[in-house]
Amino acid sequence: MLGLMQDRPLLISQIIDYAAEFHPDVEVVSRSVEGPIHRYTYRQAQLRAKQLAEALADLGIRQGDRIATIAWNGYRHFELYFAVSGMGAVLHTLNPRLAPDHIVFIAEHAEDQVLFVDLNLLPIVEAVRPHLKTVRHVVVMTDRAHMPAASKIEGLLCYEELLAGQPGTFVWPEVDERSAASLCYTSGTTGNPKGVLYSHRSTLLHTLMMISGPVLGLTPDNTILPVVPMFHANAWGIIYASAMSGTKLVLPGPKLDGQSLYELMDAEAVDLSAGVPTVWLELLRYCDTAGKTLGKMKRTLIGGSAVPRAMIERFWHEHQVEVVHGWGMTELSPVGSLTWFRRGERDLPEEKRFDLTAWQGRPVFGVEMKIVDDAGRDLPKDGSVAGNLLVRGPWVAGGYMKGEGQSSFTAGGWFHTGDVAKLESDGSLVITDRSKDVIKSGGEWISSIDLENAAMGCPGVAEAAVIGLPHPKWDERPLLIVMRKPGAEVTPAQILEHLQDKVAKWWLPDEIAFVDAIPHGATGKILKTKLREQFHDHKLPGT
Ligand code: ADP
Repeated sequence: MLGLMQDRPLLISQIIDYAAEFHPDVEVVSRSVEGPIHRYTYRQAQLRAKQLAEALADLGIRQGDRIATIAWNGYRHFELYFAVSGMGAVLHTLNPRLAPDHIVFIAEHAEDQVLFVDLNLLPIVEAVRPHLKTVRHVVVMTDRAHMPAASKIEGLLCYEELLAGQPGTFVWPEVDERSAASLCYTSGTTGNPKGVLYSHRSTLLHTLMMISGPVLGLTPDNTILPVVPMFHANAWGIIYASAMSGTKLVLPGPKLDGQSLYELMDAEAVDLSAGVPTVWLELLRYCDTAGKTLGKMKRTLIGGSAVPRAMIERFWHEHQVEVVHGWGMTELSPVGSLTWFRRGERDLPEEKRFDLTAWQGRPVFGVEMKIVDDAGRDLPKDGSVAGNLLVRGPWVAGGYMKGEGQSSFTAGGWFHTGDVAKLESDGSLVITDRSKDVIKSGGEWISSIDLENAAMGCPGVAEAAVIGLPHPKWDERPLLIVMRKPGAEVTPAQILEHLQDKVAKWWLPDEIAFVDAIPHGATGKILKTKLREQFHDHKLPGT
């Protein structure tokens, strides 16, 4: 027997309409690429999103067409999020930090029709324009006064001119909720980038989850600043979540250094933020040297890579900021799990709370998880063993664009994350590695993440990365690569001493190498592929 409730579609346009009607005066504040701070309200944002949809319709854009952006977190990008999906087209956010040939590959693969680009990112597009065969128009996200006097690109369009004179009365179409709304490519750290095509339905369900009490618990009294870029996994859903909940949104534009972030957070009374660990390393360093504390911040969501325990402690002890540790992937819209405390756990001693936070949280409602061995057999969820992590849920990818990467999807509807994890008996997820980064030593696995985290807690260590190198007896053994803090003299012996009681004895690295910088990829993760190349011919002691 079927239920008798209305089958109204869940659509992204409903989010901006709701914000405009019920939170009309709540602000969206942006540090603009042109320089000044820009502020307006959700009501004004909705009007401009409608004008943009009208302009796109005039350019001949139809439902299902892909519209690309190469842009920072700012108000025009915000408008694109709602205008493009709202009119039934597909918003494709491109990562400006990708190599030019990756950008070309992805834009061609997606068959992007129009490309919107921030003023200071225009050189990226100029360099690849001749190779973008499907792109009909390039729009610079600025006003006429800031348009470049000359450009290698013919017929550049100006964003503000497109909007000017449009009535802003666009009526959002009632598309099928399962139709595509936005598109993100995985960063290609494993093979060619693959397209993850989100639907209106998956985005709305993910947004409802994000704003809910046990997750971010967003209200109109919060002020949120996503440092996580809008070109990386939908800024973890925060753009939609803030509009749905009437939360004040602060967008940092291109200035992501510690001082700029601190100043914006302070001026706008930001109480919640979100970003990858490397961003926070930089902010904490700034606060340390400038003698500042994050007075108004209460919580910060950190994910994308494992959060070192030392960072969780610093945030709490130095700034009274609670870290919420999240795990997710582009393929999960992207949130799969995050720190939430069971009844009574908030009263635990802080050491215990830090322990729980150093794990990757617990699944959010809607995401199911299991671990399996290499033969696909289920493994116990009691923390005794690590296995390949599989997930499923209404905002988990069911396939990649154009049918690629089929092997990641099992017949039972589970998605292979490529992560190795433990599922603890208290429900926590503990990521031990990406499967390609795990170190296989004597038939057992060493978690590079655990070793890195332990090393990051050692005084004098700024950043640490662990890779496996070949070993005749053990197959592979760990090499610990360390970047020291400026002026620190920390020695291998001191680091080994620090690690002694934190990891199993046989996990201790065979060697510690010091480097001036640890390479990061386009989404802020440590580039282990680069490190493996760098240390390709390196021989561990005794090999
Ligand atoms: P990519 O395009 O590189 O796959 P994603 O942002 O989708 O970019 O990366 C997802 C991956 O990032 C996960 O599969 C996992 O390996 C890693 N990751 C994300 N969050 C965490 C975390 N909290 N701890 C450890 N690893 C994480």
